[in-house]
Amino acid sequence: MEEYDPVLEEQYRQFEETVKKNVPSADLSHIREAFDFARLAHGDQKRKDGSPFITHPLAAAEIIAEMSLDEESIIAALLHDTVEDTGITHEDIEKKFGTEVAELVEGVTKLTRVTYSNKEDEQMENLRKMLIAMAKDIRVILIKLADRLHNMRTLEYQSEEKQREKALETMEIYAPIAHRLGMQKIKWELEDLSIMRLDPEGYAYINAEVNKRNSENEQFFESVKNRITERLEEYGIEASVFGRIKHIYSIYRKMYSQNKTFDEVLDLYAFRVIVDSIADCYNVLGHIHDMFRPIPGHFKDYIGTPKPNMYQSLHTTVIGTEGIPFEVQIRTWEMHETAEYGIAAHWKYKQGIQGDADEEKFSWIRRLLESQQDSDAQDFVQSLKIDMFSDEVFVFTPQGDVINLPAGATPIDFAYNIHSAIGNRMTAAKVNGRIVPFTTILKNGDIVEVITSNASKGPSRDWLGIVKSGAARTKIRQWFKKERREENIVHGKAAFESELRRAMISMSDITSDDVLPRVLKRLSFPSLEEVYAAIGYGGISAQKTVNRIKDELLTIERAKKKAETDGITPTAQQTEPAARPVHGVVIEGVDNCLVKFAHCCTPIPGDDIAGFITRGFGISIHRRDCKNYLSSIEKPDERPRWLNVQWANSSSDVYQTSVFITAKDRNGLIMDVAMVLSTLNVKTSAFSARKVTDGNAVLSMTLDLRDRRELDATMARLNAVPGVITVKRGAN
Ligand code: MN
Repeated sequence: MEEYDPVLEEQYRQFEETVKKNVPSADLSHIREAFDFARLAHGDQKRKDGSPFITHPLAAAEIIAEMSLDEESIIAALLHDTVEDTGITHEDIEKKFGTEVAELVEGVTKLTRVTYSNKEDEQMENLRKMLIAMAKDIRVILIKLADRLHNMRTLEYQSEEKQREKALETMEIYAPIAHRLGMQKIKWELEDLSIMRLDPEGYAYINAEVNKRNSENEQFFESVKNRITERLEEYGIEASVFGRIKHIYSIYRKMYSQNKTFDEVLDLYAFRVIVDSIADCYNVLGHIHDMFRPIPGHFKDYIGTPKPNMYQSLHTTVIGTEGIPFEVQIRTWEMHETAEYGIAAHWKYKQGIQGDADEEKFSWIRRLLESQQDSDAQDFVQSLKIDMFSDEVFVFTPQGDVINLPAGATPIDFAYNIHSAIGNRMTAAKVNGRIVPFTTILKNGDIVEVITSNASKGPSRDWLGIVKSGAARTKIRQWFKKERREENIVHGKAAFESELRRAMISMSDITSDDVLPRVLKRLSFPSLEEVYAAIGYGGISAQKTVNRIKDELLTIERAKKKAETDGITPTAQQTEPAARPVHGVVIEGVDNCLVKFAHCCTPIPGDDIAGFITRGFGISIHRRDCKNYLSSIEKPDERPRWLNVQWANSSSDVYQTSVFITAKDRNGLIMDVAMVLSTLNVKTSAFSARKVTDGNAVLSMTLDLRDRRELDATMARLNAVPGVITVKRGAN
C-alpha cells in the first residue's frame, strides 16, 4: 500500500485548481494518472530539502498550467525527469501516454543531458541556438524553462558552487531564451533569482532599497494610480491601472552598466495602464502627458514598431507633482498577454480565455518561428516545429565547445572550422565516439572528434564535393594551391613558354632589366616564378598573360619611337584628332596613360563606358552601347583588352559628341536646327547636311557638351523641330 502524504496531496489539489482554471479542456484523470506514475517511478527519491522528489515535477507542471499550455505538456512536465532519473523508458511512456507525450519527455531529457560550464560570450549564443534547434517542438523549451524556473526557486539547498553555476547558466542561456520567446514574466523571475546568487550583496542592497521605497511610497503609488484612474473614468476610457517598482535585475543592470546610484535610476517606478483598444492606448498617452510632465527622449512607440519578440506597448517617462519620475506603459489586454507569456500566449488564446483563436493573432508566432509548412491552425499547434535555425547545425568539440556549421555539414567541414591544419591532416573522424565516414551529415548535439596524422598526404580533391561550407572549400583549394606549388610552377612555365612562342616573342625580349619590371607590374606579380605558379594553379591563363605582355611591349616600343620623334613634325598618329588628356575618366588599374575618346560613338559624361587597349595608341574610350564595342567584346582575342572605366567626378571639361538628324527636307530646316542649338547655348564644332533618298535629309553635327543630361535635353529639343524624324547618336 502506498503511503498517503497529506502535504503532497495538498500541493496536488492546488495544482489541479490551476489546471482547471487555465486549461479547462484537460482531462484531470489523465493528469492524475501521470502524476501517480511519476510518483511511483521516483519512489523514495528526495530533493535536497528533504521533500519527496515528485514535488519538483509537480511544481514544473503547475508552471506549465499557469502558462495555459495543453494537457500533453502538463503530463510531459510531470514525467520530465523519469527517463533521466529512473528506470522508465521512452517505450514505457509511449505505451501509457502516447507518442506525443513520449516525444516531449524525450526532448526535455535530451536538453537536460547537454552540459555546459563557463563559456565565452560567443559560445553562449551558439548554445542558446543549439538548445532551441534541438528541442524541435517549442513545448519542449517551455517545459525546460518551467523545470529551470522551479530549480532556481529552490536553489538554496544546493552547494554555493552549484548555485553560482546554475545561476550563471540561467542568466546566460535560459533568461535570453525566455526573452527571445517574449516570455517577460519568466525572464524577469529567472533574472532576479540568478542575480540573487551571482551577486548576493548587490541583490540584497537593491532588494532592501526597493522594500523601503515600497512602504515609503505607498502613498505615491496610490495617488498616481487614483489620479490616472479618475481622469480616464472622467473621459469614459475603461482602463486598469497597476503600479510597481521595476524588477530587481533591471535596476541592477541600469545601476552597474550606467554607473548610477539607486536614486539616479530614472524609471524605478512603473505604472501600467491596460485598455481595450489601440486607439485608447494613444488616448491614454495624451491624458498622461497632459497630467504629468513628460521627460523628453523617453517616449517609445512599440505599438507602431513592435520589438523583434513582438512586444507591444507605449512607453513614456514623466514627472509628477511629487517630483518623482516614473515610467508609464500603455497597452491593450492582448498586448499584455503577449508581453507576459510570449509564445505561450498562443495556447492561452486556444483555451478560449481571451476569446476566439483567431488565426491572424498568431501570425507573429509564425514569423518568430519562420515555420514554413503548417497551414492548418490546429496542425500548427499540435506540431509547433522550430525552424528558426533550420539552416544551421550545432555540434560539440570533445572539449565541449559548440561549433556552428551550415546544415548538412560533414566532419570535414567541422575539421576545417577548427583549423585548416586539422582539416589538412585529418585521417578519420568520430561522431559520438564512433568512427564514421567523412560523408556523414552532422546532427545537432553530436560530439565530433577529428583524428589527424602527420603522415597524412593532405586533403583529397573529392572533399571539394563533400563539404558544405564555403570556408572549408576555400581552405582545401588553398592547400592545393600551396602544397602543389613546385608542380604548378613547372606546368605553368611550360604553358607560358609555349604561348610566348606562338606570339613570336622570345624570352630574352621580356627578361631584360628595363623591360621585366614593367611587364611584371603590368601583370601584377612580383616575379616570373609567381606568374608560372598562378598559371599552373589555374589562377590566370597563359594566353591572357602573354596578351598583356604583348601590349606592354608595344607600349614600350611606341614610347621609344615617340621620344625619338619628339619635337619634329607630327607623325601620323599625332595628327589623329581628339586624343585628349587623361582627365575626365578613371581607368581601372592604370594611372597614367594616353586616353582618347572614340570617334565612332563620341562618349560624354553620363554614358556607360569601357576602355580599349589599342596597339600603341593608348586607351580608347567607347560607349558600352557602341556597335564596335559590342562586336569586339564578343571576340575572344579582343575581350581581354577591354578595361573598366568610369567618368571622373568633378570634370568641368566639355566633350565633343556626334548627333545625326534625319528629317523631311524643307526650306529653313537647317535654320531651325541652328536656332535650337543657339537658344540652348550649345557650341557646334562641325556641321554638315546632305540629301538622302525619299526626300529626306541627314544633318550631322559635332556638339560641345558637358554631359549626358545636356545631350538628352538637346536631343529632345531637336526632336521637336518640325519635320525631324529621328535624332540619333553615332555608332548605335
Ligand atoms: Mn527537473
